Amino acid sequence: MTQPERDILIACLGDDAPEGSADRIVALVAPTKPDASSRRFGTRLVTAWGSALPPEVVDQVAALPGVTRTFVLRAGQRLHSAWPTDGSTEVELSPGAVCGQGVLVIAGPCSVETESQVVETAERVAAAGAKALRGGVFKPRTSPYSFAGLGARGLEYLVRARERSGLPVVSEVLEPAQLELMAEHVDMLQIGSRNMHNSALLFQVGAHPRGRPVLLKRGFGATVEELLDAAEYVLLGRLAAGHDRPGLVLCERGVRSFEPTAPYTLDPAAVPTLRERCQLPIIVDPSHAARSQELVFPLARAALAAGADGLIVEVHPDPPTAWCDGHHCLDMDRFARLMGECGGA
Ligand code: PEP
Ligand code: MN
Repeated sequence: MTQPERDILIACLGDDAPEGSADRIVALVAPTKPDASSRRFGTRLVTAWGSALPPEVVDQVAALPGVTRTFVLRAGQRLHSAWPTDGSTEVELSPGAVCGQGVLVIAGPCSVETESQVVETAERVAAAGAKALRGGVFKPRTSPYSFAGLGARGLEYLVRARERSGLPVVSEVLEPAQLELMAEHVDMLQIGSRNMHNSALLFQVGAHPRGRPVLLKRGFGATVEELLDAAEYVLLGRLAAGHDRPGLVLCERGVRSFEPTAPYTLDPAAVPTLRERCQLPIIVDPSHAARSQELVFPLARAALAAGADGLIVEVHPDPPTAWCDGHHCLDMDRFARLMGECGGA
């Protein structure tokens, strides 16, 4: 039996909320409906829900000491479809790089290797029209024996590349322990495919006080619906921390299928499906679904034809020597050709 859609009450608690505030909210909501229940995220936020929340209960919750904001999502609404504050859903990485206004291209190596590699890549992708630089310093690797990134040293190189090219930088945060360092230095925090289900990380990245934009990639075994649920954790984090903007971009990057000729099967249909369901910008990573540089081109075209707001593409000055994913990293000439074709410049 499918459950009826329920109203959701989101109550944000300030850091100074008195002991037991969360329990008091639950006690107010719980008697209203037998199916009401609630969930806490750290000490700062409670959601409680019931079939149809009476307005007076919502008012009572809002009046409790320590409650900083309340929002009600009516049956079927979610934060990704009904962001409750006035903040725009466009995502600004820097004043010259806004996702949700035309085609935004983020480009750079799979992983940061040396200072000269990332600086050269940054200068050349900027010249070709990219608006942001990508580069992993903490790399999720399937095998524990693969290169896992340069860590903090790589971040220094990435920062230098930003200074030299003027491009904002996008890099992946793998675990909460890296969040402070990454949020201090990068302009957009990427949550990778393998972490899409890591709800604690999703919430904490959304709740970071700096409010850095977030790029959330679809898990390669996840449905569109699961991606939207993951997005919800980031957005709850935003609300909990008092941010007015969702600052969240979703990314389709290919799913596992039975097709053996490519590492992942790109799902361009995810773009219009997400577009129907949510207000967030959507970009596509054509690189990780491509087994060769040339295959990146048709996948990028398919993404843009499906209505994507942009691309995130892996590029390397000398792909055969790349420490990671060299088979699909575009060389500089091919990247310039892609920019010419895609009109991102
Ligand atoms: C990446 O973009 O660096 C990456 C690891 O991609 P994904 O999480 O999609 O595998
Ligand atoms: Mn890669």
